[in-house]
Amino acid sequence: MYDVLIIGAGPAGISAALWCDELGRETLVLEQSEQPGGQLLSIYGAVEDYPGVRASNGREFLERFSERVSEADFDLWTQVEIESVDLKTKRVALRSGEQLHSISIIIATGVRRRQLGIPGEKEFVGKGIIQSVNRDRNEFAGRDVCVIGGGDAAVENALLLADVCPTVTLVHRRKTLRARPTFVQKLQGQHCITVFPESVVTRILGSDTVEAVEILRRDALKPFQMAVGGVAIRIGVEPNTEHFHEQLQLDDEGYAIVTSQHETSVTNVFAIGDVSNPLAPTISGATGAGATAAKVIATRLHSRR
Ligand SMILES: Cc1cc2nc3c(=O)[nH]c(=O)nc-3n(C[C@H](O)[C@H](O)[C@H](O)COP(=O)(O)OP(=O)(O)OC[C@H]3O[C@@H](n4cnc5c(N)ncnc54)[C@H](O)[C@@H]3O)c2cc1C
Repeated sequence: MYDVLIIGAGPAGISAALWCDELGRETLVLEQSEQPGGQLLSIYGAVEDYPGVRASNGREFLERFSERVSEADFDLWTQVEIESVDLKTKRVALRSGEQLHSISIIIATGVRRRQLGIPGEKEFVGKGIIQSVNRDRNEFAGRDVCVIGGGDAAVENALLLADVCPTVTLVHRRKTLRARPTFVQKLQGQHCITVFPESVVTRILGSDTVEAVEILRRDALKPFQMAVGGVAIRIGVEPNTEHFHEQLQLDDEGYAIVTSQHETSVTNVFAIGDVSNPLAPTISGATGAGATAAKVIATRLHSRR
C-alpha cells in the first residue's frame, strides 16, 4: 500500500514525486516509456524560460532536473503498461499482473500529438514524416516540404523549414491561421511559403519514403497531388486520459477538470501538468502543480493520523 501513486514521469510527475518524498510519503511512479522525462525528451531547441535553469535542449534540461531523482527515495517503474485504473478504490492493475493500491493517485500523463488518421501517416514514420524540425532540419534541406496545421507549432515549423527548403506548403483547414500574430507576420515576408487555407491533406503518398501529398481544397471537387519530400503534421495535441473516461469529469477535449488544488472530481485523485492544463502548458506550470498536489496530499495524510 502506497501513500501516493503517480502515473506519468514527465516534469509534473517527477516534481510531485520529489515533493512527496521530501514530505515523507511512500510514493510509486509508473511510467510507460523506457525513461522518465515526458515531452522533455522531444525538445530539441533551447529551454530558456524555466527560472534558474537554461539548457540547450530538453535532454540537457532533464539531466539537471533529475539530479535530485537519483538521491530521492521514491520508487520509479518504467516500461509499465496499465491494464485498468479504479480511481474510487485507488487500485491499479498492470498488464504484467501486479495489483497496486494507494491512498491517493496523481495523474500526470501529459499529452500526445494529435494524429490525422489518414493513409500514409503511420506508414511513413521515420521515412519522410518530420518528427522534429529542430532536430531533422538538415536532413530535409533542399527538399520541397508540406506542413499541416495552422497553430503556433505549424507556423513556427514552416518558418524554420523555409530557411533550408526551396518550397514550404502550409495546409490548414480554417480560413485564418490560429498562430500568434508575430509568427503570422513573419510568414508574410517568406516567398517560398505558400499557404493553402480551408484545405486538408487526405493522403500521404510514396513508395519507400514520402513522395507526395494529396490535398483537397474546400471549393474543389477533387483532390490534387503535390510532390513533396517531407511532411510535418502539427495539428495540436490531445490529453492522455483514456484510462479515466467515465470515472472523472473531463472537458470537451478530454482534459481533466481540477480545482485550484489540482484535485479532480474524485476525492484524493489529482491531475497535474499538461493533462489538466490545455490553456498554458509549460514545464514550470507542470512542476508547480506537482508541488501543490504533493503538499495537499501530505497535509491530508498528516491530519488522518
Ligand atoms: C517541442 C516542444 C518544445 C517545448 N518547449 C517548451 C519550453 O521551451 N518551455 C516550456 O515551459 N515548455 C515547453 N514545452 C512543453 C513542456 O514540455 C510540457 O508542458 C511539459 O513537459 C508537461 O509536463 P507533464 O509532466 O505534464 O507531461 P509530459 O511531459 O507529457 O509527461 C507525461 C508522461 O506521462 C507518461 N504517460 C502517459 N500515459 C501514461 C500511462 N498510461 N501510463 C504511464 N505513463 C504514462 C508519458 O510517457 C510521459 O512520460 C515544449 C514541448 C514540446 C513538445
